[in-house]
Amino acid sequence: MTKFTRRDFLKTGSLTSAALLAGGLAESTPVYGAIDPNGKPAILGGEKPAYSAGPAWPVLEGNELEGLEKVLLSRNWCRSGNPACVTNDFEAAYAKACGSKHCVATNSGTSALIVSLSALEVGPGDEVITSPYTFVATINCIIAHYGLPVLADVDLQSFQVCPKKTEAMITPNTKVLLPVHIGGAPAKLDGFLDVAARHGNLPVVEDACQAHFGKWGDKFLGTVGTLGCFSMQVTKNLSCGDGGAILTQDDAISDRLYKIHSNGRATSTASTTFQYDPLHAGNYRMTGFQASILLAQMAHADKFAQTRNENALYLSSLLKDIPGVYPQKIYDGGTSAWHLYMFRIVEEEFGCSRDKFIAAMNAEGIGASIGYGTGDWINYVRSIYSTPAAKRVYSDKTLDDWAERTHLPNLEKLCAQAVWFGQTQMLAERTNMDVIADCVRRIQKNAGKLKAEN
Ligand SMILES: *Cc1c(COP(=O)(O)O)cnc(C)c1O
Repeated sequence: MTKFTRRDFLKTGSLTSAALLAGGLAESTPVYGAIDPNGKPAILGGEKPAYSAGPAWPVLEGNELEGLEKVLLSRNWCRSGNPACVTNDFEAAYAKACGSKHCVATNSGTSALIVSLSALEVGPGDEVITSPYTFVATINCIIAHYGLPVLADVDLQSFQVCPKKTEAMITPNTKVLLPVHIGGAPAKLDGFLDVAARHGNLPVVEDACQAHFGKWGDKFLGTVGTLGCFSMQVTKNLSCGDGGAILTQDDAISDRLYKIHSNGRATSTASTTFQYDPLHAGNYRMTGFQASILLAQMAHADKFAQTRNENALYLSSLLKDIPGVYPQKIYDGGTSAWHLYMFRIVEEEFGCSRDKFIAAMNAEGIGASIGYGTGDWINYVRSIYSTPAAKRVYSDKTLDDWAERTHLPNLEKLCAQAVWFGQTQMLAERTNMDVIADCVRRIQKNAGKLKAEN
């Protein structure tokens, strides 16, 4: 059989990741100082700056192939009933890295959320209160249980679902609070824990799918609530293509999570033994192949988290003085994982629309997007719940009432104002943050002209 050497392996990766491994971004280091923050933006004929958007993602750490080969040759591909499968090692390593008592690996972040809601016995008619400013999977995991996604409005400054507005949405049918750490920045967890305590100790599930190694005080995100769910999908800050993980500090819940993610079988049940607990279970297991990649990827996770944080805080310090630019507020004591670098453009102060600003940034060669855009969750859920099966759970009146009590004025504003950069942009050398800020500045200074143009 063909053996790949480490050198062959690196050749198959991008030049950028090889350069990064060698200790720098030699290929794409920009010549800073070439652009004038008072000059013309590229969209109006100015010169495009030298800019690096960071490494090609995922960055290859170097040991991935060795790990994959080991799993392949060992035949320990599946973790079911197999203590020798490296999925066990990944769980131990991730739990340790996050200071968590337990970790159950899953085959996606969506699976992590579905399994978590199963463990908390969410079922038809149960209400789960969550953020409307999130990836669709947060909503889908509730729908997977025929639960009702109840949406509380966001805080415009932090982009996070608001604990006070969450509390106002609680009814006797509320089963779980599901705050999302959007962008990798912490939701206001103290607030959610207070609300949960005031209402019969409602369980709090953290959607930490974007928030690997972000923090709330000295605790890692995903370890503060009852459960914390992570995604290891390929764009995420820690990735193996597709994968996920659930953290919990509760022994009994951990046991349930394990069984639910493996068709009701306990850790020690051999895959040839047909013994299973009667639980709302399925097969959501992570293979040894995925786990081996994650173990390799974890080697650079710490360093990357630190680089993103340093660059993002520096960028915010530059952007916050530009009229009409509002970086996402990070709550006191919180540390973001910076899966996304997000800010708002307030048209009246900035001088032109958010969309014109984005076109101008893209003309500078700096990737920026509007992000989620205006989600129409009401019609989304209504369409899915128009089936005969759903109608047995949700009458038209129930859904009308639900739609009527959904008020999301801040979400609407946020979706019209938000701008995103991706996490890899926060991994570029620091001079690139200066380039970004200078471009934003020169676009703002010329915003009047941009506004006048069609
Ligand atoms: C990515 C993501 C998920 C789903 O994770 P997958 O691994 O893609 O299934 C859930 N919630 C949020 C907020 C996410 O960003």
